[in-house]
Amino acid sequence: MGARLPILTYHKIAPIAKGTIYPGTFVPPSLFEKHLRLLRRRGFVSTRLNSQFGTESEAKPILLTFDDGFQDFADNAWPLLQQYGFGGVVFLVTNHLGGKNDWDINVGDQPAPLMNEATVQKLATEGVEFGSHTLSHPRLATLNDEEQRVELVESLHKLESLGTTPPTICYPYGSYNDSTLQIAREAGYKYGFSTDKGLNDSTTDSMRLKRIAMRHDTSVPSLIYKLWRGFRYDR
Ligand SMILES: [Zn+2]
Repeated sequence: MGARLPILTYHKIAPIAKGTIYPGTFVPPSLFEKHLRLLRRRGFVSTRLNSQFGTESEAKPILLTFDDGFQDFADNAWPLLQQYGFGGVVFLVTNHLGGKNDWDINVGDQPAPLMNEATVQKLATEGVEFGSHTLSHPRLATLNDEEQRVELVESLHKLESLGTTPPTICYPYGSYNDSTLQIAREAGYKYGFSTDKGLNDSTTDSMRLKRIAMRHDTSVPSLIYKLWRGFRYDR
């Protein structure tokens, strides 16, 4: 990796749902567009996982990631990303394609639809990159090795069957342990995305990439501050 790489984390690009217990997982489309406008104005250029990110002659690379694979990515985020010339990486919960966010619903949150296989395949042909967010969205660090292996290996096989590469894992809830990292490497994953805060460079463990969280209240000044803090203090 050449330049330092900020990786932004989004979940839903949609108006905040009534009754949600996780408002932070929403970024309204109008606010998301303001983010994109700022990033473009500041000269950030989307890098791609497939480009061994950062090694190309990108002065200010950035990666926009979207956890869980919500349908609103296809409906709201991708049209704006295309309009502003950015790419996107979406992490899918492969046992739930075409279903709902049961892992949230089970703790009292509102349902939200997830992209189905046809949508994933269509967006992949349009340039969206996809990675694994496991089979069922567990806290990996709470599982034994065999259970982790099933979550990591079978979700990767599913992604490969959909024709999406390269092998990339995003740990649900940012939960992982030493076994997770070892099993993921053995399974063939090339990159692992955490919720650890900071920027990434050539010294960053590629299986523990750091990210910056975007929320419903990440205003443009707040985004500017988060980027500044990342570049200044690496957190
Ligand atoms: Zn998630």
